Amino acid sequence: MNTLLRQFFTAPVSLAFWAFGWAYTIVRFRHIGIDIATTGDVPALRVGKVVRVVRTTTMAWVVVLRWGLLYFAYCHLAKTTHLPKVGDRVRKGEIIGRLAWTDYPQNPGYGGSLWNGPHLHLVVSTHPEAAYRKVAGAVYLDPAPLIRDTLTIPDPRIARVTTRATRLFAAPAKDAPGLKNLPKDTRVVTVGSAVGGFLRVKYSDAVAYILASRLVTQKARVHTPGSDLRYRSRPSTVTGKILGALPHGTVVTILGVDGSTSSAKWARVTVGGREVWVARKFLR
Ligand SMILES: [Zn+2]
Repeated sequence: MNTLLRQFFTAPVSLAFWAFGWAYTIVRFRHIGIDIATTGDVPALRVGKVVRVVRTTTMAWVVVLRWGLLYFAYCHLAKTTHLPKVGDRVRKGEIIGRLAWTDYPQNPGYGGSLWNGPHLHLVVSTHPEAAYRKVAGAVYLDPAPLIRDTLTIPDPRIARVTTRATRLFAAPAKDAPGLKNLPKDTRVVTVGSAVGGFLRVKYSDAVAYILASRLVTQKARVHTPGSDLRYRSRPSTVTGKILGALPHGTVVTILGVDGSTSSAKWARVTVGGREVWVARKFLR
């Protein structure tokens, strides 16, 4: 789990802030999102495509990401270079904005400033603009269960089928229907913790279950003839700080990838007991 993501979405929420569905005291209006009282970088709760980046009169900057059929609107963001652009693909945990005191005194219309200072107002709905204007028929969801879900599902890990062929099951039970037999050395991406000895895996874009005892974590060798492979604090050449470099030929353990597909560009590996990120194309 991305540390920023966990810290941000478990930030203490003071009583001055509202959960989903609470009534405003002054105006008769339902609170259509959840408030998270903190400052600094705002990480994306879910992977998504940026569909709106707008400056509103009541909620400052709003960034909207599409995730499947839902839209996640991050409201009350300060104008900074951190804002993404429409069309960008954003990873879970990637910084998509900032919460800061800076703009507040100068912007009376900066929502939330009158009574409670910087906070993220997160709205999950079925329409890209439902967070900041009236949209007939839009449905609002409580973000809390989605936050809990994100914080409890571990990051994807790559694993390999050991010793012999094993079966993919439709449910975490040995008497569940078998979907497919996986030959030895098949690589799978695990996306969930063990339930009764099973791991939840992604395979060909489907979710299935596999016996945990049939998988091993993948090891790989750094392949950068004549140079070293830099490792970073985050899976990005922009926000990831360079922490050091691994010589050609170093054997590393791959803990996971940035995303849930086998075409992800970054791999999370252990170096001296620390978890860091490297470009996956240099691992063989
Ligand atoms: Zn709010």
